Amino acid sequence: MPKISREMFDEFMVPNYSPGLQIPVRGEGSRLWDQEGREYVDFAGGIAVSALGHVHPALVAALTEQAGKLWHVSNLLANEPAISLARKLCEATFAERVFLCNSGGEANEAALKLGRRYAYDHHGAEKDEIIAFEQGFHGRTLFTVSVGGQASYREGFGPLPGAITHLPFNDVDALEAAFSSRTCAVMVEAIQGEGGVRDATPEFLEAIRRLCDTHDALMIMDEVQTGVGRTGYLYAYQAYQVIPDILTTAKALGGGFPVAAMLCRAEVGKSLGIGTHGSTYGGNALACAVAGAALDLINTPEVLNGVEERRQRIVAGLEEIDARQGMGLFGEIRGRGLLMGCVLREQWAGRAREFLNAAQAEGLLLLVAGPDVIRMAPSLVIPSEDIDEGLARFARAVESVVASN
Ligand SMILES: *Cc1c(COP(=O)(O)O)cnc(C)c1O
Repeated sequence: MPKISREMFDEFMVPNYSPGLQIPVRGEGSRLWDQEGREYVDFAGGIAVSALGHVHPALVAALTEQAGKLWHVSNLLANEPAISLARKLCEATFAERVFLCNSGGEANEAALKLGRRYAYDHHGAEKDEIIAFEQGFHGRTLFTVSVGGQASYREGFGPLPGAITHLPFNDVDALEAAFSSRTCAVMVEAIQGEGGVRDATPEFLEAIRRLCDTHDALMIMDEVQTGVGRTGYLYAYQAYQVIPDILTTAKALGGGFPVAAMLCRAEVGKSLGIGTHGSTYGGNALACAVAGAALDLINTPEVLNGVEERRQRIVAGLEEIDARQGMGLFGEIRGRGLLMGCVLREQWAGRAREFLNAAQAEGLLLLVAGPDVIRMAPSLVIPSEDIDEGLARFARAVESVVASN
């Protein structure tokens, strides 16, 4: 076998990604090491996935224990880890029923199909309109890019599913004007993650809830990015105290092992009757064993309460970096808990990726959310020393971007 190199990525993979030039080979907690042994502090968390850091001993234990017992039986048979995970999700949330699958897009696909099918069962085929929001992101399947609010993700993939209306986010008036008896479901993120770390206002989510009730439509909350402790609440709807009819969760759910779920009330779930929907791998025993262990660890006061503390430590560090530069780099810091969107001020607008690249060169992994927002989604249990070291590296990265200006 030849040594695996970054050039081989371009040689063998379709070109839909353009990964960084270094290849990580090992991780531990909030640190990663690449092929050359260079070390990185991880504020990216594999895009809000590695909520317990890398190679968490309890997740390794759950995975290896299950790996020695049973991996997969398909949904022709039930398995213990899947039932146990579904039970935990119901006990921790509003939900009474769960559909297990493998990715956020798949969970949203299930939610959207359920939204349509529930309306079909109760009101007939004419009630088919889905309302969604500009800049929303719900996955990359054809249905979810159609519901998502970024037109470029749909380009060239038509014909697309129909009866989908996109409205401006946080605009209650537009919502009231668009709702009708034809509306069957609304899909919304509590905080738009990919769309720039934009927080929904409480009034907006409350209006969606109220209008869904009035028009017999289902409120679907996409908590793929905000869920599983990310905001300091197990799910963000608990912070807003607006209860959806359907909730989707993925990313942090498996702490890095692919697993996702769609949660709903029993009465709503009835519309996914026998044979209506499915997934071969969904509810896979390995994935569910890991997710069950991750949920047990994250859904504790220690971990959830630690999220806001860590946010405050990062915010303080960012303010200090900004003050040192004395040029007002950052505007507001959006998001909640450890889903943070650091908005670049006008003079620096459009240059988020430059900061990300400079940070990587200094040994810090970051994310962006569009051209103007530096996004951070570190582990929920990142130690203070790693936060401080990450911030020190970020300070050097900021200096180098400013110096090259
Ligand atoms: C990442 C994300 C998805 C898609 O999840 P995949 O696992 O990539 O399919 C859907 N919705 C939101 C809000 C996300 O952040």
